[in-house]
Amino acid sequence: MQTALVIGNWKMNGTLAEARPLATAIRDGLKRPRGVEVVLCPPFTALAAVSEIVKDSAIRLGAQNCHFEASGAHTGEVSPPMLAELGCRYVLLGHSERRRECGETDELINHKVKAAVAHGLTFVLCVGETGEERRQGLTFPTIEGQLRAGLAGVPVESIVKGVIAYEPVWAIGTGVNATSAQAAEVHGYIRGLLSELTSKETAHAIPILYGGSVKADNVEELVAAPEIDGALVGGASLNAAGFIALAKKAGRAGATSRGD
Ligand code: PEP
Repeated sequence: MQTALVIGNWKMNGTLAEARPLATAIRDGLKRPRGVEVVLCPPFTALAAVSEIVKDSAIRLGAQNCHFEASGAHTGEVSPPMLAELGCRYVLLGHSERRRECGETDELINHKVKAAVAHGLTFVLCVGETGEERRQGLTFPTIEGQLRAGLAGVPVESIVKGVIAYEPVWAIGTGVNATSAQAAEVHGYIRGLLSELTSKETAHAIPILYGGSVKADNVEELVAAPEIDGALVGGASLNAAGFIALAKKAGRAGATSRGD
């Protein structure tokens, strides 16, 4: 990894009245971000407005979900070409909130990953164990199952263009982040699985982000840890000053861990 990747997931936050000033402040605060690529994932309703604000800037746009078909009778859904048309480069898939609240299965998520690839979007495949799975010693089998199923049938040349986000469910929105040692252990495990699915050389190029209560205060320690290439940030991406500080620190920490 050459550059840290920081993705802000606004979740179901951001009316246009809120999204416009937030995106503008982040864009203006990160004009020439060093060592970090920053992506904003607003809700669907704010994508067009945020796209207009960040165009010609260093900030990239992403969506929080997509359907696996390009068009058709799927009421309430949004397709990959619709996202691409709005300027989205990234799409989050398999977020634990969608797995839990919308019943998304690994099989459905796999269809979405393939659709994202087919339409030129970079997928960000989210995987992570619940607190109960961790207590039962099921962290690695859970991650392995989600990763293998999510990437099943995806060609190697497409896997290497994607992003994986390790998001322990127990750390999302709880204020309790995984320690850098806990995260690095799972990231190392994911890197090993990606080596099996692609090759040792190419697996190193796939960003593996950590997500779960990342803030400006803890991002440096996390991103400086082995195999952690950036962060997927929920709550802390809704405050412009905090998110700008977080992204700058991630850029510095990534550079330090790479020995630049
Ligand atoms: C997320 O939604 O992906 C996330 C990591 O949320 P938070 O940063 O709020 O824990």
